[in-house]
Amino acid sequence: MAGCPYFERCGLHQNLGMQAAIRVWRSFYCDGVHTRCERFKLAEAGVEVPPRLLPNGRLLESPDRVPERRGRVA
Ligand code: SF4
Repeated sequence: MAGCPYFERCGLHQNLGMQAAIRVWRSFYCDGVHTRCERFKLAEAGVEVPPRLLPNGRLLESPDRVPERRGRVA
């Protein structure tokens, strides 16, 4: 299967802070089965692709999000 036709302009690859994850997504989706990518599906439908949308349909967490603390803090 040919690579994704949106590769050159896809915003996913602009995030320099997650290159390791991008390599995995690229292998599976962009160079593989790009028709399963949620970003591809929206682009094909003519819908604006949210910048934080990942190929698996989840949203990338905002970098300024503070992790929740669980349990008791002494
Ligand atoms: S993330 Fe999805 S839309 Fe972007 S280049 Fe890869 S397969 Fe195409």
